Amino acid sequence: MTHAHLADIAEEQALTGHAYAAARADASAPMFHGGQTQTRTERLLVALFVSVPLLAVLAAVPFAWGWGIGWVDVALSIVFFAISAHGITIGYHRAFTHGSFTPNRPLKIAIAIAGSLAIEGPVARWVADHRKHHAFSDADGDPHSPWRYGESTRGLLKGFFYAHTGWLFDLEQTPIEKYAPDLLKDKDLVRVSRLFPLWVAVSLLLPAILGGLLTWSWMGAVTAYFWASLVRIALVHHTTWSINSVCHVWGKHPFKTRDRSGNVAWLAILSGGESWHNLHHSDPTCARHGVLKGQIDTSARLIEFFEWRGWATEVRWPKSDRLEARLVTHTSLATTAVRDSSTP
Ligand SMILES: [Zn+2]
Ligand SMILES: [Zn+2]
Repeated sequence: MTHAHLADIAEEQALTGHAYAAARADASAPMFHGGQTQTRTERLLVALFVSVPLLAVLAAVPFAWGWGIGWVDVALSIVFFAISAHGITIGYHRAFTHGSFTPNRPLKIAIAIAGSLAIEGPVARWVADHRKHHAFSDADGDPHSPWRYGESTRGLLKGFFYAHTGWLFDLEQTPIEKYAPDLLKDKDLVRVSRLFPLWVAVSLLLPAILGGLLTWSWMGAVTAYFWASLVRIALVHHTTWSINSVCHVWGKHPFKTRDRSGNVAWLAILSGGESWHNLHHSDPTCARHGVLKGQIDTSARLIEFFEWRGWATEVRWPKSDRLEARLVTHTSLATTAVRDSSTP
């Protein structure tokens, strides 16, 4: 192991205050079997939350033809998609998993709640899984690598679906005490996590209530529930899961990583910039994932806004020397046109 690599790990540990980086350093470390197991009720709930929104998407086309879709439905869907998707990318992922910036207390609570509205589980559970993904990315121990069944077409097909959704049903759960002890110490985040059923209810019912009030009709409530609750949640889910499946199979690899993460341009807008996944695995604590010219990253834009308002501090913007060291071919950054925010 090189000194530079050790320094990276030490830095990551200092930033996130836990030992997952050390586990990553020791590739020979045994897989963690110490996880709690998923209960039957939990499995049933996961099955429900995976299948119902997906069925809604399948029904969307005939539903739209038969019953129509109003502007209120479209507007509510976009607003709730933007809030819950960015809650995941900015809150769950960049702030809580990787410590790429420090939110003040109101922002911290707001982005934790916004992320909960995506119905991808309580924040500490999500963070533990994702840190384990980084610790073992595409190696034994990764909770959702599409390569877990080998490189044959059959294996990859199986692995792709496992990485996309199948892993959610894995009986072995990532131990939160091991991977996210810092979150368990944060009273606000523990409280937001405990109230998860409430955020699920809000996420499902608030669009319907608003749709009903805005159109002053029961039908408005029903169509808003269909589009802005069910279809929107399915879209958020499959966008997040595509980062685990699509972005670990396809994409460009301008930066060095120890895994198969790729930059996938067509997912950039939907995923709020998270599909620049190759850079993310190369420099996990960086607050901007779309660092090359023209790479859309709305999450980074919002973090910029929060920083400008004084709500976010210690933002870890990309630095040219750091990025340059990570480029696969040593081309100058001037020709690769990196967006460097370290110099204002
Ligand atoms: Zn990944
Ligand atoms: Zn990550």
